[in-house]
Amino acid sequence: MARFIFITGGVVSSLGKGLASASLGALLQARGYKVRLRKLDPYLNVDPGTMSPTQHGEVFVTDDGAETDLDLGHYERFTDVTARKGDNVTTGQIYSDLITKERRGDYLGGTVQVIPHVTDLIKEFILNDTDDADFILCEIGGTVGDIEALPFFESIRQLGYELDRNNAVFVHLTLVPYLSAAKELKTKPTQHSVKELRSIGIQPDILLCRSEKEIPENEKRKIALFSNVPEDCVITAPDLKSIYQVPLRYHREGFDVQILKRFGLPYQEKLNLDKWEKLVENDLSPKGEVNIAIVGKYTGLSDAYKSLVESLHHAGMANNIKVKISWINSRTFLLENSTKKLKEVHGILVPGGFGSDGVKGKIAAATYARENNIPYFGICLGMQVAVIEAARNLAGIKDANSSEFTEDGTHVVGLMTEWSRGSLIEYRKKTGDLGGTMRLGNYDCSIKPNTLARLIYGKAKINERHRHRYEVNVDYVEQLEKSGLKFSGTSPDGTLPEIVENPNHPWFIGVQFHPEFKSRPFCAHPIFKAFVKAAMDLSGLQK
Ligand code: GLN
Repeated sequence: MARFIFITGGVVSSLGKGLASASLGALLQARGYKVRLRKLDPYLNVDPGTMSPTQHGEVFVTDDGAETDLDLGHYERFTDVTARKGDNVTTGQIYSDLITKERRGDYLGGTVQVIPHVTDLIKEFILNDTDDADFILCEIGGTVGDIEALPFFESIRQLGYELDRNNAVFVHLTLVPYLSAAKELKTKPTQHSVKELRSIGIQPDILLCRSEKEIPENEKRKIALFSNVPEDCVITAPDLKSIYQVPLRYHREGFDVQILKRFGLPYQEKLNLDKWEKLVENDLSPKGEVNIAIVGKYTGLSDAYKSLVESLHHAGMANNIKVKISWINSRTFLLENSTKKLKEVHGILVPGGFGSDGVKGKIAAATYARENNIPYFGICLGMQVAVIEAARNLAGIKDANSSEFTEDGTHVVGLMTEWSRGSLIEYRKKTGDLGGTMRLGNYDCSIKPNTLARLIYGKAKINERHRHRYEVNVDYVEQLEKSGLKFSGTSPDGTLPEIVENPNHPWFIGVQFHPEFKSRPFCAHPIFKAFVKAAMDLSGLQK
């Protein structure tokens, strides 16, 4: 039977529960345990797929096609354990299942209530599909005290009671703020947060205290005293230069040892974390810097592009270079004449996106990259705009467009109505639901020989994660290829263009999939690595 670690948060949101959970997962893994990480989100959307990335942050897509919370990206990057559909649940999903059951008559004769019906479904979700792990790390979204999170807290409270005491540990992440005027660290918010948690029946075993300063022993003692947590289980979680320092720091603080102690498991103090040490050393001592522009419309919130930013970070580490990101808002691109900002960059990346807003700016960025021989990397929508740009300016299809943006013009990019997944055919109608109905998750792609893509991947068959509703119209492929583009990757049956490149340009590639979901700190994604290398070549830097 797997053991469960419940991670909750208090005081304020955005303390980095996801990173904390991922780092603990990595430490337990380094001790030879098998881990799975899960996230329970208290909002009412069935999944984050229909939320704006500027509100919620990136939607992370799993191999099996689930649209999930961005924390699952941290989990995968830190542990390299492939997340599954069942690793993220929301209140919306729970209620949707509950109401389906109620209508079917599963609860016939009974009154359906939050306790026990909602909490039972939450517990079922937590306990389901856990056979292949020694530890399930279960993160509860939001902050203790949130009304909407109550059923989740109640469920883990019940589990703490129902599971053997040696099978559940509660970790609470809080904030110990530093007041610069008083020159003091304040423990009161943590005390209150623990009080709040205890008022709903949960006594934390370990406190992780985020703080911009080291927390001295006497402050730790105070927190321990007020919260009934042993002093050596009050762990400092300070701000660090690199996120990959977090597992190292936690280990130094004794976090993993305390976890094993709480479970009554044998442990050795020492743990070999050489690979993490090397990674951090590399991360903190780059040999130079390249400047990459990201031209997108969600630039107001860098979490909206979390995996992208991390993939560039990984590619930088793989090339011993720091990647500086210049954020360029595609919505205001033309208004602000942003091409002048592109003069200072060594690479242009146009990421995924939805809707017509900001598309003109993205197309202008693709034109600039093509005409000025700047490395261009288009992801999903970034590929589609590169194709529209080439159709207009190279193939002479002046009104080339996507049916996503307008009814008018020549649709070189159009709605995908039918595609195959293995032996299954999936269909979509224009009027169908928007939630969860895109071409989602892992699909195979065949790469043609003698192409940039083939050189980058070094193989002919790849699979990558997708999240799109539109695709390049195959009817125009021949005409586009005559004008200079090369469709170097397609679905194995040849019907869906997956990779496009421009052989007349030093480095220009567009991909219909999202490689950023598969990049790892210990194994940078080959396209990102090659893109950063191309940017280094342009800037005159050598590896
Ligand atoms: N909006 C485009 C589509 O649905 C691109 C999606 C994306 O960039 N993820 O096809």
